Amino acid sequence: MKWVTYRGADGERTGVLSGDMVYAMPPGVALLDLIGRGADGLRQAGEDAQGSPSEVVQLGEVTLLAPIPRPPSIRDSLSFLDHMRNCQAALGAGRVLSDTWYRIPAFYFACPVTVLGPYDDAPTAPGSAWQDFELEIAAIIGTSGKDLTVEQAEQAIIGYTIFNDWSARDLQRLESQLAIGQGKGKDSGVTLGPYLVTPDELEPYRRDDRLDLQVTALVNDTVIGSGSTAQMDWSFGEVISYVSRGVTLRPGDVIGSGTVPTCTLIEHLSPTAPGSFPGWLHDGDVVTLQVQGLGETRQTVRASRAPHPLPARPNPDAVPAPRVNRAPARVPYSRGLHEVADRVWAWTLPDGGYGWSNAGLVAGDGGSLLVDTLFDLPLTREMLTAMKPITSSAPITDALITHSNGDHTHGNQLLDQSVRILAAQGTADEIEHGMAPEMFAMTQIADLGPVATPYARDRFGHFDFSGITLRNADQTFDRNLTIEVGGRQINILNLGPAHTAADSVVHVPDVGVLFGGDLLFIGCSPIVWAGPIANWVDACNTMIALDAPIVVPGHGPVTDPDGIRAVRGYLAHVAEQAEAAYRKGLSWAEAADTIDLGEYATWLDAERVVVNVYQRYRELDPDTPQLEILALLVMQAEWLAKRGS
Ligand SMILES: [Zn+2]
Repeated sequence: MKWVTYRGADGERTGVLSGDMVYAMPPGVALLDLIGRGADGLRQAGEDAQGSPSEVVQLGEVTLLAPIPRPPSIRDSLSFLDHMRNCQAALGAGRVLSDTWYRIPAFYFACPVTVLGPYDDAPTAPGSAWQDFELEIAAIIGTSGKDLTVEQAEQAIIGYTIFNDWSARDLQRLESQLAIGQGKGKDSGVTLGPYLVTPDELEPYRRDDRLDLQVTALVNDTVIGSGSTAQMDWSFGEVISYVSRGVTLRPGDVIGSGTVPTCTLIEHLSPTAPGSFPGWLHDGDVVTLQVQGLGETRQTVRASRAPHPLPARPNPDAVPAPRVNRAPARVPYSRGLHEVADRVWAWTLPDGGYGWSNAGLVAGDGGSLLVDTLFDLPLTREMLTAMKPITSSAPITDALITHSNGDHTHGNQLLDQSVRILAAQGTADEIEHGMAPEMFAMTQIADLGPVATPYARDRFGHFDFSGITLRNADQTFDRNLTIEVGGRQINILNLGPAHTAADSVVHVPDVGVLFGGDLLFIGCSPIVWAGPIANWVDACNTMIALDAPIVVPGHGPVTDPDGIRAVRGYLAHVAEQAEAAYRKGLSWAEAADTIDLGEYATWLDAERVVVNVYQRYRELDPDTPQLEILALLVMQAEWLAKRGS
């Protein structure tokens, strides 16, 4: 039998489904009450309902609720160990499980208050940017009892239903650091439905002590994962026997199976193929779970309001590690907008480390040029809002993207559709095929080992990578481009490849301002993603020759041509040291470990020398093995740890 609970004119109603007709019990009879009568009582009630129904309604004309809208309790187990293996691998921690997974069937208590019906909107967890779903099935307890054997536990099951364990992965990761179980990461919702299906209906799918039900999970009608419930490593009988140790199970208690492997988003994160991740759930996404014999749930995700903030307690043991950018600043180096010349502004974000990038604004008559957006949407919104007093009379008409990195492009989507986004062709190509925002999100949750994990959290944990849809250039150019914005002439020069495949600088000749993009890191170490380093040195010479007295770097305080000379000095020094090590026969890793940074050792993010030495070696010996970006990140963390700072 298939049982449903639906919203009737007179409140919640219970009925038996036959074909597409619902044969209802009298008002006031809840499925939970019927379950309490045991399997025979439930069957008898169903036969009575079909024989003399209180009302008969068409399934398509009623709103189905969860079959048991308020279960006495919900426990969710983790019976598919491949789910755990896939999760661990996705987070960079390998597929080998701790022995405990093989010794006890794990479970946690879920929240009965947030049960959702099969077609209800599903709210995101407040404060979460990484909303996920999990396709599971649930067994419903029909017979009260405790200390059950596996066989008794199996007999206690009165029905099955689909179970969606909505999960907030960022909150879950945060809480898991405390190792006291699941909390806000798991209580935004549990979907049950559309029916409670009694075991006799599922007999054709039974293989020994497992049900072999084919399942499919879809987001916006694209298949995310599929499999069979027969893959369970622990049977429901075993899980329920374990759960019942010393605890009385009551009719209506819900026991989830755990996620069928691949039927959740998080398993699709891949440290080696970040581009394949489908992205977390967003407002309006439709999640469909299909289970053979149990039906289908289909729900729209709805964004929740931000939570009321709670101030953190002061941590008496916290050791603040001050990161101060010591480079001389031509204008105060503080977060915000600074006018550096007549109607030319720099937006600076101390301290200039990973993601703390600068941008710029050049205003003319009735139009402005924006130079770059920022690393996430909140940062970019903050900047665009601060620019409003200027852009309300001189709206942004053009935006020049200096290069492809996310800290200069992720905010592009916040620009008005009418804004013409300009970029060098090489930049547009890299944006098209480069690192997805999810890759950065991964550095916030991935387990990269004891050294690199805290390093990655420290460097990337401050940013909010949710909601980013990369908007690419509307118009590209190859080397040079001169444009007029609000009557001002602006010269754009692509001096790459160096930092990336193409690196554009913006020269405003009427006031002598140069925006150098990431060809200039001031007071913090440059990083060579593309090279060759010699080309970057040439780019420095070209910038110096422009003779602009005011120089806005991509990272660090506003500077002057001396700042460009310092960057050139760093690059020449590292290239020379690396080459000397190469001639001595050192491996590139040894060269990075032993390099003497001299006067550049005090620049922030000194560990980037690892990448710079690696790039120099690749120039010297093209057979140097190519490394993934995450591997380079881990090596930077290890370098920093070895240097003891
Ligand atoms: Zn940057």
